[in-house]
Amino acid sequence: MNAPANLSKVGQLRLRDGEVCWLCGGKLDFAAPPGSRKAPTLEHLVAKANGGGNGLDNLVLTHPGCNKHLADKPRQEKLRIRAKWQANQAGIAAARQVRADTPVEDGGNKGRQRAQVHTAQLRGKLRRWQLATVIASGAALLATGLAAGLAIAR
Ligand SMILES: [Zn+2]
Repeated sequence: MNAPANLSKVGQLRLRDGEVCWLCGGKLDFAAPPGSRKAPTLEHLVAKANGGGNGLDNLVLTHPGCNKHLADKPRQEKLRIRAKWQANQAGIAAARQVRADTPVEDGGNKGRQRAQVHTAQLRGKLRRWQLATVIASGAALLATGLAAGLAIAR
């Protein structure tokens, strides 16, 4: 932590913590215009409003949005939010890993086959329904004709 004194606080924190947001772990863009979405901001773990200092021991880098989210919450609350966030991220990463481990070819084919079977079943159902409709309307027509014939015969 003996960063060159001529480095800005952001520069020193970048050296100390890397180029990621303290809260969400997402990449910070040090070339982005200040205040833009991925630009680094100085987050006071103990908020200035709560007497937090400007020393590096009280500072971390975050996205502007993440900084706003942390706001003036007590330091313990910020640490809790961060732990929760990281647990969520770990869960998402684990789920992604499971998906990544599933062979895409297999999964894709099975999915397509299932879809084809389903479509074939639907078509079969439709055909049976159409046939039933034709038979029913034929029978109705026959009955009408029969009734008409009977009426004429009388
Ligand atoms: Zn962030």
